Amino acid sequence: MNEEWTMISDSPEDTAQLANKIARLVKQNDVITLSGDLGAGKTTFTKALAKALGVNRTVTSPTFTIMKEYEGYLPFYHMDAYRVEDELEDLGLDEYFEGGGVTVVEWPKMIEEQLPIDRLDIVIQYEGGEKRLFRFHAYGEYYVTLIKELFR
Ligand code: ADP
Ligand code: MG
Repeated sequence: MNEEWTMISDSPEDTAQLANKIARLVKQNDVITLSGDLGAGKTTFTKALAKALGVNRTVTSPTFTIMKEYEGYLPFYHMDAYRVEDELEDLGLDEYFEGGGVTVVEWPKMIEEQLPIDRLDIVIQYEGGEKRLFRFHAYGEYYVTLIKELFR
């Protein structure tokens, strides 16, 4: 089961709107990964998602740690694995994935082995100007249902 769903975003506002829609569907312990080149829009999406989940503080990319925790309606965990050097080092991330919040992971490839198997993977592709192609891969029944709900 590896069906792909796609969507075009024509602007940062479009991307924020998509994040808002997803915010209405996510629950405790949900995990979303975001892949795509620098400037694709991963952080833009994350900021909008956080805001929609009640986070008032400004979300900035975690620089010195790979994870930043925010307080919203639920805890909001923002990981950016861009600087992870040793893929095999156990970072103890389950504490967050199962911490009762919503987790967003930028650059998941670096910590692939440590990610939950069931999750929503989003790949953002630059298509010129402000156009972005969003590709969704849902792993596990729960996320397939979530993505179907999103595209309903
Ligand atoms: P990343 O975290 O993937 O490196 P950022 O979100 O930090 O990317 O930066 C994306 C940049 O592209 C921002 O300046 C944003 O305003 C711009 N942008 C233009 N069009 C879009 C779009 N459709 N969706 C998201 N960001 C966009
Ligand atoms: Mg980023």
